[in-house]
Amino acid sequence: MIKSTTNGVRQSKLFTKTKKDSPMDEVSRNAEFLIRGGFIHKEMSGVYSYLPLGLRVLNKIENIIREEMNKVGGQEVLMSSFQPKENWEKTGRWEAMDDLYKVSDSSGREVALGPTHEEIVVPILKNYVSSHKDFPLAVYQIQNKFRMELRAKSGMLRGREFIMKDMYSFHTTEEDFSQFYNNMKDVYKTIFTRVGIGHLTYMTFASGGTFAKYSHEFQTITPVGEDTIYIDEQSGVAINKEVSSDQVILDLGLKKADLKENRSIEVGNIFELNTKFSKPFDLSFTDEKEQQHIVLMGCYGIGLSRLLGTVVEVLSDDKGIIWPESMAPFAVHLLILGGNEAVGKEAEKVYESLQKNNIEVLFDDRSDISAGEKFADADLLGMPYRVVVSDRSMKENGVEIKKRNEEKGKIVSLKELLLLLEPRT
Ligand code: ATP
Ligand code: MG
Repeated sequence: MIKSTTNGVRQSKLFTKTKKDSPMDEVSRNAEFLIRGGFIHKEMSGVYSYLPLGLRVLNKIENIIREEMNKVGGQEVLMSSFQPKENWEKTGRWEAMDDLYKVSDSSGREVALGPTHEEIVVPILKNYVSSHKDFPLAVYQIQNKFRMELRAKSGMLRGREFIMKDMYSFHTTEEDFSQFYNNMKDVYKTIFTRVGIGHLTYMTFASGGTFAKYSHEFQTITPVGEDTIYIDEQSGVAINKEVSSDQVILDLGLKKADLKENRSIEVGNIFELNTKFSKPFDLSFTDEKEQQHIVLMGCYGIGLSRLLGTVVEVLSDDKGIIWPESMAPFAVHLLILGGNEAVGKEAEKVYESLQKNNIEVLFDDRSDISAGEKFADADLLGMPYRVVVSDRSMKENGVEIKKRNEEKGKIVSLKELLLLLEPRT
């Protein structure tokens, strides 16, 4: 019989196994640890499947992002991945977008595999909204995207199939758009703080495309990043190197001498679209005087799979991942050490108690694995707390608890353990 609870998983029953050796065909740390830990499985370059541990992390990220999108009134949808060629021709992007996957069936019909969803969301809304009273509104989804990336070499950082949250906002006035857009800057900061990389993530001015002067990227600093940004520590803002002319620096009220160069990864961005996509589909509204105007738009992206990879890049050490509590697949990795019956019984009791108290726990109940291997697994998999039940801890009437990012553990009673972990769940 298969028994399962969402709070607890026995490692002996987990079909994935950790691997000692690094994959031969991966160079990035995020891919190495995620594959060795059994979080993900590589299908081909830039394409990965999520396994039980990886999916738990992904679900945590999704829920954080979903909560924040719902707070600003975002309405969640799930749009199709197959997208009509006509829509892409209408915006000119069937030809203009280099990384668009074009798929054809046996009848010769061609469709696009969605790399983004402006060509879908705008025609959908055209069916439902036409009066100024219908606005403002925002629609978002969390979904797989497909892009023919030439440089898919950084594991989860640049995929050919990857997961994105894309939100699109619709407005009748420039003021209303600006207000929403500016609020989204704070919402994004909140999201990156909640997933544990706020201290490394900078709002970065980048080129704005056709309409706006600037777009805003959210860049997490790490030596493996593809981008280069200049950071002004004083104000906490940054400029993408690609837009960092003397004029731009002056324009933003910054001083060249204050700027520090860093490599970084773009984990999200927000863009003013103005009427770029509403116009080709004639998404318009009538105002109070029955006059017609084209709707104004903004778009707001976060790469969830890239974010997952980024967290592994910046929150890890040589032994493995160090998950922040908000993203960890389990709060606790519970280990039995030694084979005697009393230890086994005590560990089962701790496992039960943690689950009853809604503390998520991965239970290393395997009997044929050495202590050294169990510790190595705990370091690789990176749960925030390691709890050990052993002869030694039993002698001291407790369990040993150690944080993943600390060297030394301490013995506590079961009661103390639950108190220690409870506030976080
Ligand atoms: P990049 O400059 O890195 O190619 P982009 O400008 O193409 O990014 P958008 O189209 O604005 O990115 O997508 C929104 C978000 O989706 C990005 O901020 C990034 O976090 C993520 N993203 C984009 N392309 C990929 C990819 N190939 N793999 C994983 N995540 C991606
Ligand atoms: Mg791109």
